[in-house]
Amino acid sequence: MEWEAVIGLETHVQLLTKSKIFSGASTAYGAEPNTQACAVDLGLPGVLPVLNREAVRLAVKLGLAIGATIQPRSVFARKNYFYPDLPKGYQISQYELPIVSDGRLEILPEGAAAKTVTIVRAHLEEDAGKSLHEDFHGMSGIDLNRAGTPLLEIVTAPDLRSAAEAVAYLKKLHTLVRYLEVSDGNMQEGSFRCDANVSVRPRGHEKLGTRTELKNLNSFRFVERAIEFEIERQIEVLEGGGTIAQETRLYDPDRHETRSMRSKEEAYDYRYFPDPDLLPVVLDEAFIEAVRGTLPELPDARRERFARDYGLSAYEAEVLTASRELADYYEEAVRASGNAKLSAHFVMGDILGALNKEGREISAAPVGPALLGGLIRRIDDNTISGKLAKQVFESMWAGEGDADAVIAKKGLRQITDSGAIEQAVDQVLAANPQQVEQFRAGKDKVLGFLVGQIMKATQGKANPAQVNELLLKKLKG
Ligand code: ADP
Ligand code: MG
Repeated sequence: MEWEAVIGLETHVQLLTKSKIFSGASTAYGAEPNTQACAVDLGLPGVLPVLNREAVRLAVKLGLAIGATIQPRSVFARKNYFYPDLPKGYQISQYELPIVSDGRLEILPEGAAAKTVTIVRAHLEEDAGKSLHEDFHGMSGIDLNRAGTPLLEIVTAPDLRSAAEAVAYLKKLHTLVRYLEVSDGNMQEGSFRCDANVSVRPRGHEKLGTRTELKNLNSFRFVERAIEFEIERQIEVLEGGGTIAQETRLYDPDRHETRSMRSKEEAYDYRYFPDPDLLPVVLDEAFIEAVRGTLPELPDARRERFARDYGLSAYEAEVLTASRELADYYEEAVRASGNAKLSAHFVMGDILGALNKEGREISAAPVGPALLGGLIRRIDDNTISGKLAKQVFESMWAGEGDADAVIAKKGLRQITDSGAIEQAVDQVLAANPQQVEQFRAGKDKVLGFLVGQIMKATQGKANPAQVNELLLKKLKG
């Protein structure tokens, strides 16, 4: 039997607000435990939550960017459960009436067709605190700094059919929230967390299989591996005559497996009810339109513009718009160099390669867009060959100055003086009569050898086009 995987993702995105969603405490990451939890976050008696307007604005911004319906009226609800890092005994979330519903995101999975993923809803909620199990002998530590941090939970329909599609969706969403400055998307700090719901069904069947929910997926690679593992596991269970239990499973990256954590709660276990401490969120048209006015050019639009205006392939445009910073860098390099194609070539090759190797962000590139533009201009005006440009680039990356300074210091200026090139050609021809003979006898291959000798004689500085032209003229003439 052939099986089909079905995946739906729930992503928790931490909103970029200065203070918490219902209190004035700071959301800054990395403070001493329990220094950023005020009376509201601690759930002390007598306190009242006050909604952070900025969290609402950011939720609306994301909603507009995914073409969703912004609900004019949404309601906060209490989700009741007991856990040590949840001092109130309930989490304030949205349930029946979320702020955002029915959006979509187009994905381009590697080597597959484009696909539209439905986003069923995105709702506002507060984060819980953190339980720390290490460093405490026979006890657990509780850090409530994170309690009350604003989250937007973004929920897809069960539209995804493979781990690769799930990752493509997550990367797309990650790019988008960072473009919008809705979230910093920092996965190590937990600002972008994903739970994956996975089931399988016989291909062609309509009815969805029983799903499991995978937690602890804090990198794209783990998402991919965990889903792949889970699909295989479920198929094996079903083919062995077993059934899938609806449960929450934890991914263990060290062992590359998922393990049962607990049976999955049903919604009614949480005894949801509208929070009597908070008014419904009522948004008017003017507010929504004002937020719409702050939307930047979105990644899809930018990708299409790059392909059109700069003559890039779809793939190049996709890579260069993967983050707002990278796209900005590229456009500045184009302005500085006046050459869109060569700029794309350098940014995607040398720049991204070097950043990758050193684990750096584009903002920390030692060669900024203006410097790169200067280097490209020297290729365009024939001061250096493309080959020498690599060498110049490496020196620039090492902090040895701009292109002109490096070219001057290392004497890399390309030889375009035809007299000098002719001299080198003549020398090489005189020194290699055998090869000249062979070429004239029809063995074209020796041409490469002769060009190599000439480049060597000029320390790689002769203009290659001129070398080729002159050499051919002499050999044939
Ligand atoms: P819950 O209330 O348990 O969170 P939801 O209906 O909100 O359940 O769905 C949560 C996520 O699980 C959604 O992303 C949804 O697309 C996905 N999902 C639901 N059923 C299945 C299924 N059978 N297989 C895979 N994913 C599913
Ligand atoms: Mg849910």
